[in-house]
Amino acid sequence: MTISLLTRVTCSVCSFKSEQPVITRTNILGGSTALDTRPPGTVQSTINNCSIQVCPNCGYCCHNLTQEYAQAAEIIASRTYQTQLKSPDYPELANWFLCHAMIQKQAGDIAQAGWASLQAAWVCDDANNDKAAQKIRQQAAALFQKAIAKGENIDKEPITKDVILIDIYRRCGDFDAAGKICANALRQKSTGIQVKLVEYEHQLLRKQDKGCHTLEEAIKVISVC
Ligand SMILES: [Zn+2]
Repeated sequence: MTISLLTRVTCSVCSFKSEQPVITRTNILGGSTALDTRPPGTVQSTINNCSIQVCPNCGYCCHNLTQEYAQAAEIIASRTYQTQLKSPDYPELANWFLCHAMIQKQAGDIAQAGWASLQAAWVCDDANNDKAAQKIRQQAAALFQKAIAKGENIDKEPITKDVILIDIYRRCGDFDAAGKICANALRQKSTGIQVKLVEYEHQLLRKQDKGCHTLEEAIKVISVC
């Protein structure tokens, strides 16, 4: 159960005051984390760490509207941002995450922009909008690749960056891109659960499986191997 309260927040971009939700507590019963780190339940019900506030005046989208980002005002005023904010091609919550990703990317928080994009993809999954989810996953993967190249860490133990990337590409049906990362990761001869998860992804890729699979499923399969 998620308990959501409203609080009065002043937008750091335009100083407009508005009532915004604050998530105070989320208890998730049952379910297991997906291999791309998605928590169980719908994004709407599990937005503990990914809640988003939207300024009704300027359209600033951020986890907390009081937080300042470099060049935020400029980006928000841009046509690209305003078009994304109202895009009919995505669910509203996905647009908010994508707008937030745009601000983070501009501020140089590339990995965080990747996470916000991935959250937008999960919202599209919940809305059964596969086309939008696929497009956003490609964007999330590109941002994560860029973040990794810059030396940013995206591991969420025991799920490593390799598994996250393989899973994102697999989920959007880009089996070639997923296969290359998988082959590289398997060559590294690491041990433990991390490599077992890569092996599990390898099995899914061989079956060209685009579905959502969880850590729990992977561990069950791994433990009988
Ligand atoms: Zn504002």
